[in-house]
Amino acid sequence: MTGRIGLVGTAVTRPIFEGIGPLGKAIFYFVAAVSTVVFAWGAWHRVQKYRVGRPAGRGPAIRAALASRLRSIGKGTSVARGNRGAGLAHFFIFWGFTVAFVATVILTIDTDIVRNVSRLFAGHEDSFFHGTFFLVYTFFVDTFGFACLLALLYMGVRRGVRRPWRLGYSRAGSPAGGYSRKAMVEGDWVFLGLLLAILLTAYVLTGLRILGQHMPWFSVFSPFGRIFAEAFSGLGMTAAAAVSAHTVVWWVHASLALSFVAYIPYSKAMHMLVDGVNLVATDRTATLALPTPAPDHPGYQEISDFTWKELLDLDACTRCGRCHEVCPARAGGAPLSPRDLILDLRQWADASSGGITLLDRERRPEPTGPLARPDGARIAGQVVDAAALWSCTTCMHCVDVCPVGVEHVPTIVQLRRSLVDEGAMEATLQQALQNLATQGNSLGKSARMRGRWTRELDFVIPDARKQPVRYLWFVGDFASFDERLQENSRILARILHEAGVDFGLLFEAERNAGNDVRRVGEEGLFEVLAEHNVEVLREAQFEEIFTTDPHTLNALRNEYPALGVNYRVWHYTELLAKLLEEGAIRFRPLRQRVTYHDPCYLARYNGVVEAPRRILRALGCELVEMPRNGADTFCCGAGGGRIWMDDAAFSERPSVSRINEALRLGVGQFVVACPKDMSMFSDAVKTVGAEDRLVVRDITLLVEEAIAGLAEPGPTAGML
Ligand code: SF4
Ligand code: SF4
Repeated sequence: MTGRIGLVGTAVTRPIFEGIGPLGKAIFYFVAAVSTVVFAWGAWHRVQKYRVGRPAGRGPAIRAALASRLRSIGKGTSVARGNRGAGLAHFFIFWGFTVAFVATVILTIDTDIVRNVSRLFAGHEDSFFHGTFFLVYTFFVDTFGFACLLALLYMGVRRGVRRPWRLGYSRAGSPAGGYSRKAMVEGDWVFLGLLLAILLTAYVLTGLRILGQHMPWFSVFSPFGRIFAEAFSGLGMTAAAAVSAHTVVWWVHASLALSFVAYIPYSKAMHMLVDGVNLVATDRTATLALPTPAPDHPGYQEISDFTWKELLDLDACTRCGRCHEVCPARAGGAPLSPRDLILDLRQWADASSGGITLLDRERRPEPTGPLARPDGARIAGQVVDAAALWSCTTCMHCVDVCPVGVEHVPTIVQLRRSLVDEGAMEATLQQALQNLATQGNSLGKSARMRGRWTRELDFVIPDARKQPVRYLWFVGDFASFDERLQENSRILARILHEAGVDFGLLFEAERNAGNDVRRVGEEGLFEVLAEHNVEVLREAQFEEIFTTDPHTLNALRNEYPALGVNYRVWHYTELLAKLLEEGAIRFRPLRQRVTYHDPCYLARYNGVVEAPRRILRALGCELVEMPRNGADTFCCGAGGGRIWMDDAAFSERPSVSRINEALRLGVGQFVVACPKDMSMFSDAVKTVGAEDRLVVRDITLLVEEAIAGLAEPGPTAGML
């Protein structure tokens, strides 16, 4: 024991460059320098590419979110969302390589700085790489490295044996002439293989060194390296043979590590460097309230139109396929996949900025799509197919599931702005925009008719422009003009009136809030509509706003504050839930089995998930959830202006897929809380021929039915 304590001094260490002579050292340093230069050149090119981008205005978001985002990156929670196995594996890979990187820096400081400087100035060689420090260092490197090795093996098995569907690289739409993404698959395996080989050779090296040193007592601080040593010994290897083999494996390990460093900026491995930055810089609110167009022209025409964050997004993508999996357009057979969009733009941006990408590229027989000539190709329409861009419902699911903070929707809208500028859009969309420009609504109805639905009420709704009210009801186009939905609006008005809610309307002064107009890419028209509404809102007398339409809710809550109006905006379900819970509405419990569809713009964009469920609970309904619910809801297919386009690009409309999902639950009612959903899903029920099995009802109708139930004998709930 005394001898051991005595050893916890300078003798407890490991030789650096063991068995490598002066020539070997010189060769190593030369190759390391070459590898560093190759890395630096590639990284410099990448940084130059980001520098071409416009400012992204992310300063405040970065400062505000730095601490919490770094925590989530460290815990691997962003990757773990929705996939525990991969999340845990990424956690160990991230920390394994972080520890390895820090360990290499420490070793470099000791070997190349402390020892050389002390030799030069003190006449003897100093080092801190021994004793207790060495033991702690060794333990950390050994355990973290081994966890990382296991995690990499798991990822290899997952990719090679289990093969999750979303890790396949089939495109959402097949371009004429075909394409090949074989090189991307090869790139994945080279990346994974290199990491595995580096770690495996590191443990073989440690095992050979421990065996060559005759298993010193302190080798227990390298528990996994020691296992390798025991295994070699068990296989009959002698200490002398281990010393000889050590030199060979040292060179293999060093060559792999230095090759990998050089490989990083030219491959998918680049995501290791940019993902952390991208996650810190990501800003969800950039999708809720879209960025303004590039300064000189609408839409994106060249690489310098992109912001640096959008260019960073392209390199951050790990091709995990989560966005590809959840995209309703892709699921419906449309030629859009958010993953393809990012990969196409990445390939094009790399070519445009003169960057070099080894493997990790799509190949085509003809220079189309991402292979289009970088110096003159139209981004929207050539690099990215126009049909793909128009297929997006702006449901935001891709943004929400991306583990590395890629923001697809703002980029899609910027590209749509180019298409709108060229007039490259469907006739039906053109007509809707024309209607919005002339009448302020997409249905082409006279603005004067907006308040007509109120005429059949037996009370008068105040005009908020003429008298003060507590709530301004911003009704929205569909709830105002669509004859199939006007009765729902009247029912809601009666319920609120009976409950004593003080509310008023803008009548003919209300215009479409512009949420979907902006997402179509018609920025000029959005500004016209929004400026009109802002002016009217400023003149009206009210305290808070509520709206029937989740899309309108998003515009009023998230887009209008930039125009100088910042009101508290509610969705009508939030108001109804409050009234029911406060006892302002008397009713008889319904006790019905229903399912509920969360609108994207309500649940995902604005986090209103509980209010409709609170209503259903209050009414005594049994809610049977669809598998995709809450913020993970599946889009109806109407958003982003898709309601104004035809569905020829879809083999199955998202609304039909959703109705089929509901039918599998065996419930009779499909409850919605959005006028557009009423329209979309009523049509979908007819399409699948399920009128006798499933009824689509606005949640207001359930409240009305519960109130009407008071006329029948039985228990009641709620108080006036
Ligand atoms: S917003 Fe929705 S439809 Fe558009 S690309 Fe993303 S997931 Fe697909
Ligand atoms: S964009 Fe994000 S979610 Fe989509 S494949 Fe890339 S990393 Fe995965």
